[in-house]
Amino acid sequence: MKTIGIIGGMSWQSTAEYYRLLNEFTKQELGGFHSCKCIINSLDFAQIESLQHKGEWNRLTEIMINTAISLEKAGAELLIISTNTMHKMAGDIERTINIPLLHIADATARAIKEQKISKVALLGTKFTMEQDFYKQRITNKFGIDLIIPDEKARNIVHDVIYKELVMGIINMESQEKFKSIIKELGNRGAEGVILGCTEIPLLIKQDNSELILFDTTKIHSKYAIQIALE
Ligand code: GLU
Repeated sequence: MKTIGIIGGMSWQSTAEYYRLLNEFTKQELGGFHSCKCIINSLDFAQIESLQHKGEWNRLTEIMINTAISLEKAGAELLIISTNTMHKMAGDIERTINIPLLHIADATARAIKEQKISKVALLGTKFTMEQDFYKQRITNKFGIDLIIPDEKARNIVHDVIYKELVMGIINMESQEKFKSIIKELGNRGAEGVILGCTEIPLLIKQDNSELILFDTTKIHSKYAIQIALE
């Protein structure tokens, strides 16, 4: 079993979920007392969030690269970043390290392809929904048609992520708002929805939606275990 390096803490609410899932999937595959070999370098989200909202992406790239290097030095044999948003600098990280980076969008796109659907919607932070780094990977590399919510809905999703989910707050009113946003995306032709923020699965489950939901936290964790056990 390879040792997985995890750049975590963005937020710790979802990193805790990653840790649980990585161990669950290892146990599912190997049984007995087996658990996941991993090293988590968990960052202080206050610093990350503040730099994100100030648009200081160069500084964030530096932090992410240094964290990735520290994990490689500590013995990680493959790397995952437990947030969709911070895959913005995945290319820069990949170029600096000598271990593979398992990209969350690649794992997700593969899961979408398996369902044989071609049009999906993306929910995530405004950075993920509005910038190209994530959407282009899904559309250009995998040929999947992708739509995002309108501006009002994007603001709601972004606010719920930063004001509630990363703080561990699960609010049923917000769940209702997400349900109607997902319904509207279905009306616009989406057959599935990427829960493209690793905290959204804490709020929205498959039971809350008629569209197929792609839980990036779960998909990414499962993919990491598959590769770690290859
Ligand atoms: N965990 C979130 C994501 O998957 C948002 C927090 C962050 O900005 O990293 O995008």
